[in-house]
Amino acid sequence: MGRILLILGILFLVWMGYRFLNNTWSSRVKEVEKKARKQSQQPKQVENIKACAYCKTHIPENEGIYEQGKFFCSYQHLDKYLDHK
Ligand SMILES: [Zn+2]
Repeated sequence: MGRILLILGILFLVWMGYRFLNNTWSSRVKEVEKKARKQSQQPKQVENIKACAYCKTHIPENEGIYEQGKFFCSYQHLDKYLDHK
């Protein structure tokens, strides 16, 4: 009898643990979803305009490439800049 109670107790604890994990996991997923939704709702930030280190053309930061602390408008200019050095 004592054994059955022990097994039931363990099963109960496992079940509780499972429920607990499930709850924290789903709430965490919801939180992440909420954050993602918030971010997508935010108005687009004004893009940073940077000058290419090679041709000095000004283009949005997210369209260029950072290399060795310098900013380039394209991989071609990155290559050329590194060649010229
Ligand atoms: Zn360039």
